[in-house]
Amino acid sequence: MPKRSSGKTQEKELTFSFKNIGKEAPEKLKDAAKFCEGYKTYLDKGKTERECVAYTEKLLKDAGYRAFEPDMSLSEGDKIYFINRGKAIIASTIGKRDISEGVRFNIAHIDSPRLDLKPNPLYEKEEIAYFKTHYYGGIRKYQWATVPLSMHGVVYLKNGEKVELAVGEGEKDTRFAITDLLPHLSAKQNERPLKDGIKGEELNIVVGSLPFEGEDVKNAYKLMALKFMNEEYGITEADFMRAEIEMVPSVKATDIGFDRSMIGAYGQDDRVCAYTAIMAEIKTKSPEHTTVTVLTDKEEIGSQGNTGMASEFLHHFMEDLADIFGVKVRNIYRRSICLSSDVNAAYDPTFPDVFEPGNASYINHGPVLTKYTGARGKSGSNDASAETMAAVIKIMDDNKVYWQIGELGKVDEGGGGTIALFMGDKDVDTVDLGVPVLAMHAPFEITSKLDVFYTYKAFKAFYK
Ligand code: MN
Ligand code: MN
Repeated sequence: MPKRSSGKTQEKELTFSFKNIGKEAPEKLKDAAKFCEGYKTYLDKGKTERECVAYTEKLLKDAGYRAFEPDMSLSEGDKIYFINRGKAIIASTIGKRDISEGVRFNIAHIDSPRLDLKPNPLYEKEEIAYFKTHYYGGIRKYQWATVPLSMHGVVYLKNGEKVELAVGEGEKDTRFAITDLLPHLSAKQNERPLKDGIKGEELNIVVGSLPFEGEDVKNAYKLMALKFMNEEYGITEADFMRAEIEMVPSVKATDIGFDRSMIGAYGQDDRVCAYTAIMAEIKTKSPEHTTVTVLTDKEEIGSQGNTGMASEFLHHFMEDLADIFGVKVRNIYRRSICLSSDVNAAYDPTFPDVFEPGNASYINHGPVLTKYTGARGKSGSNDASAETMAAVIKIMDDNKVYWQIGELGKVDEGGGGTIALFMGDKDVDTVDLGVPVLAMHAPFEITSKLDVFYTYKAFKAFYK
């Protein structure tokens, strides 16, 4: 009869738990902090999808990437990029293996929840000038009042000239804000359910308080705001209809905590995966499989639109790429793996009720592998296969990357989706992987530097 091992040994051999990197390898914080300096710059340079694409293009060009042309010839180690309408970008490094053996897709999104200006935004009411907004993506509206906001976007003038705006980022720039009631007068408002604390039509942004001087005009406060915008940017009221203007928190990315172990910033969902993905892409020199890194737009509103993953823009790029190598694109898809790289909700000890602790993700435990998203019984989810889970877990374990498993929250507590299902639709094995975030979708979100660093390491291992 074999000697029965002790309970301690059996416990070690049979059970499993994820490690806190801060406990297991606290010395890694130094490397993580260094890596995150670049990440903070990326966040500050890219407050909108367009700005993210422009800054990413600069990083890629500096690293020797060439603009993709459908008739170019490509060979192992070549690095190319393709921009879709200034709002999404694809970067690729040609691998050693034939492309018909599949590619490694890594897809993150660079749009974030925000307040978009309405097409006819400017008005005045009782001697104050305002912008009307329509929120973009899932926000908790009450969080956006009394937060300093900056104005980013593009406007096309009647003569076709493109004007780019970024007001509220420089130290001396002016800023904008939404008001809220004072506690002394909010008794009635306090009775509203939290979701209506500030209503959609109350997300009105204060843009001026002085009237146009001199002659008698009808809307002197509105006119005064227009006068400033016209002097500075050449904009008239009609030009707002040829514009995409996004109001975003003007806060800069900053360290959080005495130990500086975390980062607080706007737009970390999902620029945290965008930055880690693009850095892994750049650092990958001669991968086995061709890498295809996609930073996409429109995820926060369901991925529809021709810069989102529900559109064919990636498919068209892949067709062009397949043509160069003389293979059928469907034969590439079938043998590819895709990381749908997006954030997950980190367990929040202040609000434990919505999490199932055994399947929640935790900050400082590394990137979260999320088998399925969705709501009401996985509806709208990609639900990765056991085979895909096994393949990705093997990559991380073989390369000593800390990682964890996690689902969004308790069953039937809520839910959400990512771009994963659109890659599943293309016949690609896909799973979600990304950084756990505290206060996701708030004007100021929190991540851990160790998690950011190990997400980058996971992506690098994936591309090896
Ligand atoms: Mn996201
Ligand atoms: Mn999101």
